Amino acid sequence: MTQNVFAENYADRAAGFRPSPVRSVWDVSTAPGMISLAGGNPDLHGLPLEQLALAAQRLIGEQGLDSLQYGSGAGLPELREAVTAIMAYSGVQASADDVLITPGSQMGLELVTAMFCNPGDVILAEAPTYVGAISTFVGLEAEVCHVECDDDGLIPEELEARITHLKAEGRAVKFLYTIPNFNNPSGVRLAQDRRERIARICANAGVIVVEDDPYGLISFDGQVTPAIRSFDSNVIYLGSMSKIFSPGIRVGWVLAPADVRARLQLLSEAMVIHPSILSQYLALEYLTAFDWRATLARSIERYRERASALLESLSRSEGVLPAGSTWTKARGGFFVWATLPQGYSADELFELAVEEGVVFIPGSAFFADGSGSRSLRLSFSLESPEAIREGMRRLARASRRLTPR
Ligand code: PMP
Repeated sequence: MTQNVFAENYADRAAGFRPSPVRSVWDVSTAPGMISLAGGNPDLHGLPLEQLALAAQRLIGEQGLDSLQYGSGAGLPELREAVTAIMAYSGVQASADDVLITPGSQMGLELVTAMFCNPGDVILAEAPTYVGAISTFVGLEAEVCHVECDDDGLIPEELEARITHLKAEGRAVKFLYTIPNFNNPSGVRLAQDRRERIARICANAGVIVVEDDPYGLISFDGQVTPAIRSFDSNVIYLGSMSKIFSPGIRVGWVLAPADVRARLQLLSEAMVIHPSILSQYLALEYLTAFDWRATLARSIERYRERASALLESLSRSEGVLPAGSTWTKARGGFFVWATLPQGYSADELFELAVEEGVVFIPGSAFFADGSGSRSLRLSFSLESPEAIREGMRRLARASRRLTPR
């Protein structure tokens, strides 16, 4: 058999599977001495590692062989119950029966897209939106149409106009994918008064809302805005342990009306049988036997200091980015989104920045339509404030070498 046997037989959809730009810069960002404003990794240094190690040991002892056996496709009942308690912080009243545990919310995205989208169906998403969601949508041959946002997030009038326009063209608009809290990559939080309106616009138009909320609790002012799901129980909500505990354990959840949840479970069982039992026990232990809110509060304080270091550097009078650049003011989450003036290229800035010893993610990764070439995502979650300030000095040197066209 020659290698050609593969080349000739890939499914059409295989062309849509692309490397994540975040993972592509991984090698560069981990080079010695490099300052990375690229990845969206949470800072895990505040986790009580020794107690967690003991808890993991105790778990296997207490659960015995159950912790190593196949388990429920819906997830551990106690964990499904525990995540409803997390959702209550965002004003969501949910039943454990509506919860499907998944190996991370990325998997939830895959399940929901596969469940609702035929090739060519439209998914509406913020401009810009999460690169991993674009990969899933494109991989499943859906078409992503971006909806304009401002400093208060998705603009309801733009959403309504977009739906009307697409429907007039005879397009099947399946769902709105939205990251209302501290959007990845823009860092913007959707204004409270827009949330109910967005739910209503979509309900009236027969468009499903998929609310992806890994950053909702990472709020610098301590305020947790009610989820869109709190206004409409038909909203499908994706939650994750990745930013409030650990991304490596791969535990997330989908909250959906029980009948939808049951169908998603069938698909999940076909794909992964069930999420890791050990991971679920560890997540449950963390949520029930640890003061995770206090640990998270300390992490949030670190993120807040890092965001301040980044924003203060950006607004220094001598300027890190070319005059006329704009950027979002992160009030939570991990990201700041900056946009260069007309004529400048973020890809060119990226090349120069790598030479100067700092990396970020160029903005076009966060659009399905190739736009975003003047924008950049700056992540502050992982580096210390000192490293961020030094990274911004390096970025300033790179910016001075930029040539506008
Ligand atoms: N949605 C968004 C907006 C994200 O930023 C991420 C992770 N970076 C995910 C989903 C995937 O999270 P998980 O680790 O739960 O799969």
